[in-house]
Amino acid sequence: MSLIVHKYGGTSMGSVERIKNVARRVAKWHAAGHQVVVVPSAMAGETNRLLGLARELAPQPDGRELDMVAATGEQASSALLAIALQAEGVAARSYTGWQVPVRTDSSYTKARITSIEDTRIRADLDAGKVVVVTGFQGIDDEGHITTLGRGGSDTSAVAVAAAIKADECLIFTDVDGVYTTDPRVVPEARRMAVISFEEMLEMASLGSKVLQIRSVEFAGKYRVPTRVLSSLTDPLIPLDDEMRSGTLITFEEDEKMEAAVVSGIAFSRDEAKITLLGVPDKPGIAYSILGPVAAANIDVDMIVQNQSVAGTTDFSFTVNRNEFQRTVDVLKRDVIPAVQARELVTDEKVAKVSIVGIGMRSHVGVASLMFQTLSADNINIQMISTSEIKTSVIIDDKYMELGVRALHKAFGLDQAPGTDKV
Ligand code: ADP
Ligand code: ASP
Ligand code: MG
Repeated sequence: MSLIVHKYGGTSMGSVERIKNVARRVAKWHAAGHQVVVVPSAMAGETNRLLGLARELAPQPDGRELDMVAATGEQASSALLAIALQAEGVAARSYTGWQVPVRTDSSYTKARITSIEDTRIRADLDAGKVVVVTGFQGIDDEGHITTLGRGGSDTSAVAVAAAIKADECLIFTDVDGVYTTDPRVVPEARRMAVISFEEMLEMASLGSKVLQIRSVEFAGKYRVPTRVLSSLTDPLIPLDDEMRSGTLITFEEDEKMEAAVVSGIAFSRDEAKITLLGVPDKPGIAYSILGPVAAANIDVDMIVQNQSVAGTTDFSFTVNRNEFQRTVDVLKRDVIPAVQARELVTDEKVAKVSIVGIGMRSHVGVASLMFQTLSADNINIQMISTSEIKTSVIIDDKYMELGVRALHKAFGLDQAPGTDKV
């Protein structure tokens, strides 16, 4: 008998028929003698619908109230799944984040899980029940409902798996694993049977929405064996086949069979670029600009400061497009008057494209092939950032898909492993 956490995303929970299929799949695992905790997302489109309603009422709604409304999507789908399981003859009970409780900090709309109480879950599992825990939500120390950021049900699932020391966390979704890039953009993308934890972390942090970044962080911190697999197969496929399907995140580099230099390409349209022209080039300037931004709880991604000319310089950085307006407001109020910048220039239509691979550590020329490939398609690179295992560029978002397809081909990702181009 194993203790398994299943997570089902929005598409997987997207209709009555799909919820029935989830219940059949969970019932199969339960009947095979496993203890199962299920973490569902809201039904497809529901979170967008709810947040859309709020934004029709106010351009920048209060975070606490946004979380109150957004959390209802998961509450509904969890109860519906418990009902579907009961209809399958499986004893099941659903809990909201605050009932478990899943404790978080108070950063509304992007809260972080701080702890998960496992008493109720364990008692129900020991009584032979399937436990359904809402994804995406928690409760802060003051008793306010919080949500974990878009895609946050992945994080709920892996965090629950860590808290109850599950044997495995299975992330069921609408693709059958992690691909070399989003198969919706590049149909030639290939599924990886395994991906190293570090690569998955980079892919997720650079925009691959298949897993929320914090879920990968939890998987790494607590060594939770995590697998991404399809919920759209026959729900009654044999357990052994299901347990071998999809993509396993591995913590052992040696286990990684496909030792490509570049393993995957991630991209994100959620970017906005902000430049302050003509700021004095003196000690403390980065802090004067980014300090107030950080104090407003806005994450800054890429940062570039230009060469100084006549004592002044230009300072550019990127933020999530959702936080663009708030960032501009902070700059106008707290930064521009203080640092005496000459001009504020913004571009909301940029995208980030990144190549990722642990093989980049030991190979030179990888970034240069990236730049060459983009230049061959006449794509202008606006910003560059690198780490040991990734290179990211900011480009005009209208060229994003073109760039991703060209890079996928240039690095041989559409071919069988072992055919590296570098
Ligand atoms: P869920 O609702 O199950 O959480 P998501 O839409 O959040 O599903 O994530 C699955 C989607 O992630 C896929 O449909 C796919 O378009 C996208 N995706 C992006 N990058 C990748 C990748 N490298 N491999 C697989 N899927 C990816
Ligand atoms: N329902 C939430 C969202 O749409 C959480 C999730 O699906 O993981 O972002
Ligand atoms: Mg998701």
